[in-house]
Amino acid sequence: YADYTRSERCAEYAALQEQYDAWKAKKLSLNMARGKPSRTQLDMVSGILTVLQSPEDCFDGALDVRNYGELTGIPSAKRLFAELLGVTPSQVLVGGNASLNLMYDLIAKAWTHGLLHSPRPWSQEPVVRFLCPAPGYDRHFRVSQSFGMELIPIAMTPDGPDMDAVEAAVRDPAVKGIWCVPKYSNPQGIVYSDAVVDRLAALRPAAPDFALMWDNAYCLHEVYGEFVPFRDMLTLCREAGNADMVYEFASTSKITFPGAGVSALACSEAMMKYICKRFSVMIISYDKMNQLRHVRFLKNKEGVLAHMAKHRRRLVPCFDAVKTAFNEELTPCGDIAHWTNPKGGYFISLYVMPGCAKRVAQLCKECGLTLTGAGSAYPYHKDPDDSHLRIAPTYPSLDEVETASDLLCVCVRLAAVEKLLTEKD
Ligand code: PMP
Repeated sequence: YADYTRSERCAEYAALQEQYDAWKAKKLSLNMARGKPSRTQLDMVSGILTVLQSPEDCFDGALDVRNYGELTGIPSAKRLFAELLGVTPSQVLVGGNASLNLMYDLIAKAWTHGLLHSPRPWSQEPVVRFLCPAPGYDRHFRVSQSFGMELIPIAMTPDGPDMDAVEAAVRDPAVKGIWCVPKYSNPQGIVYSDAVVDRLAALRPAAPDFALMWDNAYCLHEVYGEFVPFRDMLTLCREAGNADMVYEFASTSKITFPGAGVSALACSEAMMKYICKRFSVMIISYDKMNQLRHVRFLKNKEGVLAHMAKHRRRLVPCFDAVKTAFNEELTPCGDIAHWTNPKGGYFISLYVMPGCAKRVAQLCKECGLTLTGAGSAYPYHKDPDDSHLRIAPTYPSLDEVETASDLLCVCVRLAAVEKLLTEKD
C-alpha cells in the first residue's frame, strides 16, 4: 500500500469496503477474545469425571481427601507439580481451581501484612510500583492496579523483558515486583532466553521483599513440536542468592478444565512456611478431591505430556489457519502488519499499522467478530502505538477460525487504507 498512488488507494478502499459490507451482511457471531480450550479439548479429559467412584477411591495413601487438612495439598499432587516444574514437593503448595487466585492472594497478603522480608505491609508504603512487561497478561496488570500500585511498562524483546530497563527500574525501592510469563508468554508466545532468565534470577532489587511473579502458565503447552524443557527458576534464584524472591505459578487450566482444574505455587521452603502462616487464616485446605482426581487421571509428567500431545493435534490447524490467512492476505499489502509465530501457548500477537488497532477491533466487532480489546495487553490499557491485537485461535471451531481470520484480514487492510488516505500525500 505504501507505493500506491492516491487514486489506487481510493480504488482499494472502495473494493475493501464492498467486501466488508458483504461480511457484515452475513451477521456472524464469532469470538477470538479469550484463550479458552475448545469443546474438543474439554472432552478429551472426561475421564476425570469418573476417577473417584467410591469412598475407598478417596484416599491418597493414608490421607482421606474428603476431610479437612493439608493446606499445601495432598502428597501425590505435590509430587506431580514438583515433577512438572522441576522443583521438590516441599517447595509446592497445590491450591484450588485458579492460579490467578493464588497470585491475587499472595499480593493481597503482601498488601495487608507484607511478605517474609517486608519491612512493613505494602499498604503502608507511600507508593508501590510493579513492573509490567508489555504486551502482557491483562489480568496480571489488573491485580496490581486493583491495589492502587503504579504500573511501570517494560518493553518486551524477542528474548523476554528488556533487562536493561528491568535492572535500572529495580534500583527504586518502591518497585516491589514484576510479572513474568517465561514460556510462551501471553500474548506474544515468547520464550525467555537463558540470558534473560539468568539476569532475572540475579537481580539486585533495592526492595528486600521484591516479588518475581513467575507465572509458568504455559510451561507444558507446546503447539508445534515436542515438549521443550525449561529451567527451574527456584534453583537459579537460590544460586544467585535470591532464594526467597521467586514465586512460581502453574495450573491445569489449559490441560484439563479451566475454572475447575488445580493450581500450584512453588517457592523456597522458608517462604512456603511464611505463606502457610498467612494463608491458614484464610483457608483450612483447598479442594483435595479435585487434586486427587487430577493425579489419578494425569498420573505423572509423562501422562501430562501425552495428553498435551493430543491437544496439539487440535491446536495446530487453528494456529495454522490464522497464519495462513495473514500470509496470504496481509503480506502482499506491504508493511501494514506483522505477527508472532509462537511454538506454543494460546495466542498470536498481531501488530497492525500504528494507530489502527482500535479501529480494526471496532470494524471486526461491527461484523460480529469479538477480539480482545485493543490495548488490553498494556498497563492501563494504553498501547502507545495503538498497534497490538491479541488473537486467540483455540476456542472456535476450525471453520470459524478460518472465517474469522479472513474477516480480520479485510478489517486490517481496510483500516490501513483508511489511515493512509487520511494522511497527507
Ligand atoms: N496466567 C496466564 C499467563 C494466563 O494466560 C492465564 C489464563 N488465561 C492464567 C494465568 C489464569 O490461570 P488460572 O486459570 O490458573 O487462574
